[in-house]
Amino acid sequence: MWVIILILFLACSLILKNPKVKGLIGEKHVSNILNKLDPQENILLNDLYIPKENGQTTQIDHLLISNKGLFVIEMKNYSGWILGSEKSQNWTQLIYKRKEKFYNPIWQNSTHIKALENYLGDTLAGVPIYSIIVFGKNATLKFKEPFSKAQVIKSNQLLNVINSTSIAAPLPHFKMKKIQSQLSMLVLKESKARKERAKEHVHNIKREMAARNTMISNDICPRCGGKLVMRKGKNGQFHGCSNYPKCRFTA
Ligand SMILES: [Zn+2]
Repeated sequence: MWVIILILFLACSLILKNPKVKGLIGEKHVSNILNKLDPQENILLNDLYIPKENGQTTQIDHLLISNKGLFVIEMKNYSGWILGSEKSQNWTQLIYKRKEKFYNPIWQNSTHIKALENYLGDTLAGVPIYSIIVFGKNATLKFKEPFSKAQVIKSNQLLNVINSTSIAAPLPHFKMKKIQSQLSMLVLKESKARKERAKEHVHNIKREMAARNTMISNDICPRCGGKLVMRKGKNGQFHGCSNYPKCRFTA
């Protein structure tokens, strides 16, 4: 009997440690929080796939259409210390003395917002857009500088941030509905179609990484198209963009 309980316990803790499962729990958690907002003034869309100009898609975790504007929310369910700045390409997760790098979520969300702006076009005229990066309760945010392009918060601050956002002239309801209807076809309800899209999404990310690496190996800066040059730093040689300091790309 005890052996079975022990095995079940171990299996559960293994499942919960899986980053994919963790991510899904985190996203559920954020939509539960956002569902507490007044439905008259807020429309929540989860898991949106926005087409980009190059024919690929980019995924938005949560989009809140509110009478205050659009809140574009990116969930990062990471534990440990989180360090990073607005300007650095990668942020760092420090956990049990282990260092993991991840792509700057403010940049990631800027890509989402740009795709959203392109997709919605004139519908967005005069509609404020807010970028919000949300970390889960197991993260300790260790940022040295304030952010200007996004709010980077923990999930328990989310309602406060939305409620304390003020707007001189709230969006009329028909405008919110118009945005919702234009985006409605980008929400995939059918799980098979959603899986296909998710697969495509991962495939696109891989392809983008490959394209980026090809550019770097041809000494082209993937961020600005400038020439990459060899530079010497205190940790040895590295590729830097010749448009420095305008472009701070390094590889
Ligand atoms: Zn560059």
